[in-house]
Amino acid sequence: MVVATAGARCDRGVHPLVSRLAAPAATSASLARLGSATGALLDLMAPGECAGCRRPGAGWCRRCELALGRLRRAGPRVDPDELSAGAAPPTWAWGAYGEPLRTVVTVWKDEGRRDVEPVLAPLLAASLTAAVAGAGWSGRAVLVVPAPSSRSAVRRRGDAPLLSLAGRAVACVDRAPPGASLRVAPALQQVRQVADQAGLGSDQRAANLVGAAAVRHGWRAVVAGRPVVLVDDVVTTGSTLTEGARALHEAGAADVVGAVVAVTRRRHPRAVTRR
Ligand SMILES: [Zn+2]
Repeated sequence: MVVATAGARCDRGVHPLVSRLAAPAATSASLARLGSATGALLDLMAPGECAGCRRPGAGWCRRCELALGRLRRAGPRVDPDELSAGAAPPTWAWGAYGEPLRTVVTVWKDEGRRDVEPVLAPLLAASLTAAVAGAGWSGRAVLVVPAPSSRSAVRRRGDAPLLSLAGRAVACVDRAPPGASLRVAPALQQVRQVADQAGLGSDQRAANLVGAAAVRHGWRAVVAGRPVVLVDDVVTTGSTLTEGARALHEAGAADVVGAVVAVTRRRHPRAVTRR
């Protein structure tokens, strides 16, 4: 059984055509079907500009649909060498962070285009499913905790897009191991101001975030003893997941793994910089 956040539905606010096809997007065949379905949907909801390439005339074009499919990872488990944060939790990712995903994430997160959630939610759902299965949490009551946004980002955006996406992704999961239940828990918050991670090196990113996250007081009893999937849109060095996992463990979480939509391709693989 899968339990979503109250009120969150895979097809919430979505054209019925898409809701029918979005759920089983964990397979490549269904992902292909999803693409055309979301295309029809986004045409209806946000006509004028493709959310992937910004070309006028379509909400989600065929070219972006095909390009998105090519970003899918063969194996969703992220090799620790792909991340530079040494203590990052075991992490699963749907795909690589290339175009058109980069633009989709940008318009979704920074331009307020919440109508592109139906493109992203099935990808996060597939990653989430792989994480729960990979962690061996069949039969467990699993918390799905969004990585915390900085206070400035919340002020700028006026809402928490990742929380909304996590709720929709959980609602889209239909292939969780038998008996596993998923509950979205906005348990993490940032407790101090941090610098923008963009432009920082991996060591600077880690130092910027140490001690920045904490489990909200009201969620500590819920987190204690529970397995947690920490979710984010994109993982770069793993420092955000590392800090989130640290705070969750500090609050007594039984175990923590990560699930993200995409992983950034590293320009300088860790092996090259090893001493
Ligand atoms: Zn396009």
